[in-house]
Amino acid sequence: MAEALSFDVLVIGSGASGLAAAVSAERAGARVALATKGSIQSCNSAKAQGGIQAALGEDDSPEQHAEDVWRSSHETADRRLVEVLTSEAPSAIAWLEELGVEFTRENGGYRLARCGGATQKRLLQVGDRTGHAITAALRDAAEGGSVTLFPRSPLVELERNENGWHTRCGEHRIDASTVILAAGGRCYAEAERRGELSTNHPGATGEVTRIALDAGAEARDLDALQYHPNGGAWPETMQGYSIPETTRAYGAVLLNADGEEFTDSLGPRDVVSQAIFDEVAKGKGVETEDGRPAVYLDTTRIDPHDAELSLPYMLRRYRAGGIDPLEEKLLTYPVLHYQNGGLVIDEHGETTLEGLYACGEIAGGTHGRNRMMGNSLLECVVFGRRAGRAAAARH
Ligand SMILES: Cc1cc2nc3c(=O)[nH]c(=O)nc-3n(C[C@H](O)[C@H](O)[C@H](O)COP(=O)(O)OP(=O)(O)OC[C@H]3O[C@@H](n4cnc5c(N)ncnc54)[C@H](O)[C@@H]3O)c2cc1C
Repeated sequence: MAEALSFDVLVIGSGASGLAAAVSAERAGARVALATKGSIQSCNSAKAQGGIQAALGEDDSPEQHAEDVWRSSHETADRRLVEVLTSEAPSAIAWLEELGVEFTRENGGYRLARCGGATQKRLLQVGDRTGHAITAALRDAAEGGSVTLFPRSPLVELERNENGWHTRCGEHRIDASTVILAAGGRCYAEAERRGELSTNHPGATGEVTRIALDAGAEARDLDALQYHPNGGAWPETMQGYSIPETTRAYGAVLLNADGEEFTDSLGPRDVVSQAIFDEVAKGKGVETEDGRPAVYLDTTRIDPHDAELSLPYMLRRYRAGGIDPLEEKLLTYPVLHYQNGGLVIDEHGETTLEGLYACGEIAGGTHGRNRMMGNSLLECVVFGRRAGRAAAARH
């Protein structure tokens, strides 16, 4: 086998967190490599639609944002991480804008939506393809700099050596002083195991968490998996699609078979998902044409102007499937979506193993056992940047 390649910082994964970490480490002066399992474009981050939270509204504050996270997590989040997340949110948004992300604006300011569990309108959007816009900008920055990219090179081995870490990524043996794990969650694999639908891309299989645990890293809340309340249930082409939560932010409500509202449609995710499960168990749900359980999401209540501006992709997808969400209610049911827990990290993204960092969905603590929507992309950027800078400083 060829001699090992050597870098200061090796990043694993090319989602928003990995790209943010790689760009930040490189800008801090490190020689950076990024290895990922599939193509550089392949990740969950690019699929994110709804948006990214930051307390930028007039009546809002990072403290209020932190309080909402804490409450939505049922007081299980790591408060140090929450404080970092919410206090650095405005600068994370400014950084993304410098990289070329153009958030939707109106009346001279950002168009902000209120998402489930939030007390204020705080969700910035790029139409309903926010993740696509953010990853495209980060990818441009990584490709435009000196980061060495290794697509189709999954991490399969990680062990400590005298200078840091030795890894095998596909056919490459790569040594690095510090390694940043940014390989996302495991909901695709978990849904397959349970015979359920998932919103996740096929690379979300969780083996990097297992490799880190085998190397001795600690994890928390790994059993806490999140259902997205609004998976598409019908037509078949929309099964596993996550109907953006912004539909509810812009006025859509959940209805049972009798047309009754049975829950606060803007409650925290776990509460709304459980309310749907319960309603169906009580016999008050409806059935899709292929016999799946569902309830209604009444999207006809959304103002067409809001829908055209903030939900164009969702409208296009449903209309292509023969359903106009502004004319008829959608059928929806919760779908496996997000790994709340993950590797234990400190404020700089360092795991319990020296020189091994983690950021994004693979890390735990920031959301406790229940994440609010819009805080995952934010976590990727805030902690990706922190991990990148800290890993670069350590080499
Ligand atoms: C459909 C959908 C909609 C969403 N909407 C929102 C939203 O509106 N707002 C929000 O905040 N969050 C949203 N989320 C959640 C959010 O997008 C993700 O949690 C977040 O982007 C995860 O980013 P990440 O960088 O940690 O992981 P990912 O983006 O999943 O990237 C992980 C990377 O690691 C790679 N990888 C995996 N295994 C290996 C391996 N063995 N070796 C090397 N590389 C590996 C993968 O190929 C991938 O490139 C959504 C998620 C989905 C699926």
